Amino acid sequence: MRNRHLFGPVPSRRLGVSLGVDLIPHKTCSLNCVYCECGKTTNLTLERREYVKTDRVINELNNYLSQGPPLDYITFAGSGEPTLHSRIGDIIAFLKDNYGHYPLCLLTNGTLFHDPYLRKEVSKLDLIIPSLDAASEKVFQAVNRPHKELSCSKMIEGLVELRKDFPGEMRLEVFIVPGLNDTAEELGAIKAAADRINPDSIQLGTLDRPGTEDWVEAATNEDLKRIASYLGRSEIIGEFRARQKILSFKESYSRLILQTLRRRPCTIEDLNAMLGIHPAEVQKYVNHLLEEGKIEVEKLERGQFLKVRKAPGKIMK
Ligand code: SF4
Repeated sequence: MRNRHLFGPVPSRRLGVSLGVDLIPHKTCSLNCVYCECGKTTNLTLERREYVKTDRVINELNNYLSQGPPLDYITFAGSGEPTLHSRIGDIIAFLKDNYGHYPLCLLTNGTLFHDPYLRKEVSKLDLIIPSLDAASEKVFQAVNRPHKELSCSKMIEGLVELRKDFPGEMRLEVFIVPGLNDTAEELGAIKAAADRINPDSIQLGTLDRPGTEDWVEAATNEDLKRIASYLGRSEIIGEFRARQKILSFKESYSRLILQTLRRRPCTIEDLNAMLGIHPAEVQKYVNHLLEEGKIEVEKLERGQFLKVRKAPGKIMK
């Protein structure tokens, strides 16, 4: 059986060797962030439903995990918002009951935790990494472009309630978009919200790969350090661990992607369709090739195309 809903294991900068579980079709989300690496949200929704068959996901997990692979985490992530899946709680319960030795993580945009039922569903996870890129309505609209029924204050209240109920680790992720959420005023509001939410730590990120909007720029390392020291309990999301040393990093995938791009420029979706590798996994290998300066991005009408760099040079940011 081909795995449709699992990807990786992929080397993750935050989680070591992580098996991804994708419960949501591309690109279904409650937000449409300007920096999203998965492209524009095509289904902007707050509807929680069984977007992919729970039984199929559980079968795939069972087949894969029964072989006892070495993993640091099993992570709910992918090309949309995982908490929109209405049976995520059943999948978490299956994993805890049958494969409880694997730590479980959720990467989430944090918008739906005002729902007490969802907070209960995720309560058995080991680690939740919700995002908080804004604390004012104006900046929330500018950076995250939410579904019209969402508000920044509702999202923050949901995160405050989640922290009260959730016994596991919470790392709050703040993605810095220069010119939008790095003003003194907004950072002050984010700090006040973070203090109320009270996560175990704050992780600061910025653009390091092509985002949805090409005007989004990366924050400088100096600015990130300054913001980290202002927010407190913060770390800057570091570089990937040396990938070649991670068992699951498949050099063959890097080579295959490079060979394909030598023939013609492709989008992430093209590579996914041609090579049969999950888009989130393609993205990891693409990031690696971008960091190595072996490929670059060109924005064309059909989207952002990846192509081989003519000569080795500056790393794409
Ligand atoms: S929440 Fe995540 S998946 Fe949704 S648009 Fe923002 S970055 Fe993309």
